[in-house]
Amino acid sequence: MIIVYEREFDAITARALQQRVSSATLMRFDEARAHPWEVTQPSFVVMILSGRHPASLPALTQQLHLAAIPHSAVILSDDALTCGPLVIPGKSVCFGCASKRSASMVEKPRTAKQDRDFHAYLEATPRAELRGYMPALIEMAVIKMLQHLRCQLKDAGVMSVFSLADGHAIESRILALHGCDCRQLQFSSTEQRWTQALRRGLEGILHE
Ligand SMILES: [Zn+2]
Repeated sequence: MIIVYEREFDAITARALQQRVSSATLMRFDEARAHPWEVTQPSFVVMILSGRHPASLPALTQQLHLAAIPHSAVILSDDALTCGPLVIPGKSVCFGCASKRSASMVEKPRTAKQDRDFHAYLEATPRAELRGYMPALIEMAVIKMLQHLRCQLKDAGVMSVFSLADGHAIESRILALHGCDCRQLQFSSTEQRWTQALRRGLEGILHE
């Protein structure tokens, strides 16, 4: 397993996870972007990042998807800690679908433009850190990643969001977005089958 990290929270959480998985190696985020994933093919990749990395994170997750490497992510923002989804290429949704879906999973005090500006500032300011995180957040992130590392199908596509504003947690199985390649998958969970059935029903009504 390779653990990719960038900032202060990321590095501390990466080391805490490495203590539980002795075979894991650490890699900085900028190294990960240039890494030849198709050649080295690690069994699993965890990305631990702060902010939301609107431009750079999707690019890395797409590289991992193309190399068919299972992966998951922990992302600390100023309003939430997000864990997952566990992406098993060919068997689950992709990270791109998940990051778009997760935007609706947390109550936001900001507009979308303020959100973009905040994350652009974080990306442009390497020394800016998100302070005030607690040991409990690190432990939650480690436990979730140990769970995802097992790559069980029941965890595939599942994302957990812990709100830092009021402490509530949401765990949700992400469904693929319309038009994304990962939508061609065979779904097997109850929610996914129900959504597929609903879609067929709605299409039937619309075409009557
Ligand atoms: Zn997708």
